[in-house]
Amino acid sequence: MNAHSAKITRADTIEMDSADPIAHLRDRFELPANDIYLDGNSLGALPLGVMERLEKAVKKEWGQGLIRSWNDADWYPAPQRAGAAIARIIGADDDEVIVCDSISVNLFKLLVGALRMRKDRKIIVSEIGNFPTDVYINTEVAEMMGCELRCVMPEEVESAIDAAGEDLALVQLTHVHYKSGRIYDMPGITKRAQDLGGLVIWDLAHSAGALPVQLNECNADFAVGCGYKYLNGGPGAPAFVFVARRHFDDMNQPLRGWHGHAEPFSFTQEYKPHPTIDQMLTGTASQLATLALETAMEAFKDVDMTVLRQKNMALGDLFIALVEQELGGMGFELASPKDAETRGSQVSLTHENGYAIVQALIERGVVGDFRAPDILRFGFAAPYVRYVDIWDSVAHIREVMETGEWDRPEFKERRAVT
Ligand SMILES: *Cc1c(COP(=O)(O)O)cnc(C)c1O
Repeated sequence: MNAHSAKITRADTIEMDSADPIAHLRDRFELPANDIYLDGNSLGALPLGVMERLEKAVKKEWGQGLIRSWNDADWYPAPQRAGAAIARIIGADDDEVIVCDSISVNLFKLLVGALRMRKDRKIIVSEIGNFPTDVYINTEVAEMMGCELRCVMPEEVESAIDAAGEDLALVQLTHVHYKSGRIYDMPGITKRAQDLGGLVIWDLAHSAGALPVQLNECNADFAVGCGYKYLNGGPGAPAFVFVARRHFDDMNQPLRGWHGHAEPFSFTQEYKPHPTIDQMLTGTASQLATLALETAMEAFKDVDMTVLRQKNMALGDLFIALVEQELGGMGFELASPKDAETRGSQVSLTHENGYAIVQALIERGVVGDFRAPDILRFGFAAPYVRYVDIWDSVAHIREVMETGEWDRPEFKERRAVT
């Protein structure tokens, strides 16, 4: 940073980029030339190689190989291979993670399966303001299984766990909050729940690929996560599911389908779960999507997640400093923790005209997103976001505000996806 003044300059940020030890990762992605993409937390960028892999899968393996490709092109074990690649960046063993379905569906499987392992207990602890799909599935499963769902404020989670005591069946939390980016203490909460005999399901939608998650070091029980956010698996990429090996024998997930069977191709009428992580499968994998995610994971090859994390913390700190420096008095408030250690890979601001401001920025090629009611969300995917991008984004926000550009009627029309 400039030693002679406290003000951060654009030149400072260019200097930060030249000192960035993972600047080269940006070359692993196909990015639109004139955009600043700050929405990798919603849909990750396209990794190089995915297009070629899909072209080969469609033209050669499907077009020519047809049904033979399940064996000849090794399609069948793609969910396991993609799972193993993800396992390596979330601190799990290769055979404890598998790719399938969506988070919503996998959460359902885990919740019912975990509650079946704690039949004598009735309380599920979760948070108020959790991602809607987590709330909906938690609510439905609690009702189905005759349990009580206790949703509390984030700072009350620990005391709610203690209050549940011996009746605690399960804790279900999203590790990094999707709006604020606030991070839960995964080791601490896991231990606290387990000391009472409870189980924990972590949703890693905003953690996997952004932070160095250590599932096994935390003795985690179960987790789900997203393929299309920081893992860059493509729109609607399948999700992943983690089950600690010690639970393989007791897990009894409810969505029994033929791919979760111990011998799928024996076509027996009686269900027998696969003894491995494969038991979490239900039906046939969305093969093209799974191959895309598998290939996308190559972008994480040789990446030290600790170094990646240092960068996204620094990007977030820079953004916050520049918002203070450049956007004072314009009505923005910080809606994320200021302390980088407790903040994920995003920074959210609130503003009463948030929706229109985000639309005006997108028109300028600065792509963030809006979350109701008033949140402007900026994601900093460290593999491809540069420090200078942060400078330029804040400069754009300033211009959009100073010129009143955000106030144009076309920026106020709500579209289907925000
Ligand atoms: C994005 C996201 C999901 C997505 O769920 P899908 O069923 O895979 O679409 C779930 N939980 C959280 C916390 C998310 O951020």
